[in-house]
Amino acid sequence: MIKKSFEKREKDIAKKRFGQNFLKDEAVLHSIIESMPNDNLPVVEIGPGLGDLTRYLVEIKDVTAYEVDKDLCGHLHSRFEHALRRDTQKGRLVLHCVDVLDQWNHTSLADQPYHLVANLPYYIATNIILRALKDPNCQSLLVMVQKEVAEKFAARPGQKAFSALSVLAQEAGEAHICFDVPPEAFIPAPKVVSSVLKIVKRKTCDDPQFEAFLKAAFTQPRKTLAKNLSSRFDKRVVKEAFEALGIGATVRPHEVDTSLYHHLYKFLADASIGS
Ligand code: SAM
Repeated sequence: MIKKSFEKREKDIAKKRFGQNFLKDEAVLHSIIESMPNDNLPVVEIGPGLGDLTRYLVEIKDVTAYEVDKDLCGHLHSRFEHALRRDTQKGRLVLHCVDVLDQWNHTSLADQPYHLVANLPYYIATNIILRALKDPNCQSLLVMVQKEVAEKFAARPGQKAFSALSVLAQEAGEAHICFDVPPEAFIPAPKVVSSVLKIVKRKTCDDPQFEAFLKAAFTQPRKTLAKNLSSRFDKRVVKEAFEALGIGATVRPHEVDTSLYHHLYKFLADASIGS
């Protein structure tokens, strides 16, 4: 009875426009904590919500959290009163009540290397992951996202889900799906299955031209790669590049691996400068 009324309250609190689905399953919360990198770096959490994941994070790490919803910030201030770091008070948690995307426009989310751990708001999840890949201080990401989005980042060449996002993730490091999470683990339950995605970065990549090239390469995933690229580059140069690199004319975008995409990009970029 009491549990039911809590669930109703959380359902009422949840704001759709901020992508609020609160993770309530204790076993899943533990599995996220167990999947975290094992070092002393601080953590950045995006969207602490009611603070259920934050509660475990502050037990073991220094945490900087970004929450856009002012009502939830009020709740978090009282829930973590003793853990908050203020001018006069030492604590493990720094809470910023802002839109994380605005913050990222100015600077990194932390002034030192950090790990990102979050149950992300799904409406901006891809955007957040791409920004984290470009943030030089971000060393790894452990994020809950919609299963389809996780598959796009973690797919290997040859798999159907292999996409521009897979190439960008592999370029930055190693990506894999840790485990899936059913809708019932959340209040309110989302309409989709979720997955916890882990990306451990080797380096930071921030090349808008390469991203634009990949966007063109995967515009129509079922068409041939040559056709997709011909919408952006001279058809003859694309043919020349394919011959030089030994890529078959009928190859589809998901069949080419990350390093070959690099060679192709370099060839086409050099050819465009030369022409
Ligand atoms: N971490 C909590 C949990 O696991 O139960 C809540 C996760 S909920 C899926 C997403 C959270 O991100 C919400 O608290 C929401 O208010 C917050 N959020 C949405 N958009 C945001 C933004 N642009 N900047 C910061 N937080 C945001």
